[in-house]
Amino acid sequence: MNALLQRINITTTKAPELIDITDQVEEAVAASQIRDGIAIVYSKHTTAAIKINENEPLLLQDMAHFLEKCAPRNGNYLHNDFTIRKNMPDDECPNGHAHCQHLLLGTSESIPIISGDLQFGTWQRVFLIELDRPRNREVLIQILGE
Ligand code: ZN
Repeated sequence: MNALLQRINITTTKAPELIDITDQVEEAVAASQIRDGIAIVYSKHTTAAIKINENEPLLLQDMAHFLEKCAPRNGNYLHNDFTIRKNMPDDECPNGHAHCQHLLLGTSESIPIISGDLQFGTWQRVFLIELDRPRNREVLIQILGE
């Protein structure tokens, strides 16, 4: 079995923000020369998710509204109460909503590779979904196979 790892860095501009990274995944698979296997797309963050969905502009707005309804930014979160939190990083900001939204979405997607092609359905695209605020994000694309 062969393995290839590619890191991509993305600067997000708002939240929620759905960023289509399908082209980068396709490029990584092409460069790997792996014909049959799997591509794992993985976010190294607890407030930025990876999901496969459709890239249709109005739907992206619908999904952003859905996330806001599930865990509103201005809701009450113990995670946002800095008077009782311990062990906080210096750059911590109130982002309880982003963690709760991330819980619904998840950290990675796995896409089968057959005869050199990622097995996307017609409307499937891979998104990095920023849930917190404009930040620098790191995504791993690991390709395993023959
Ligand atoms: Zn947090």
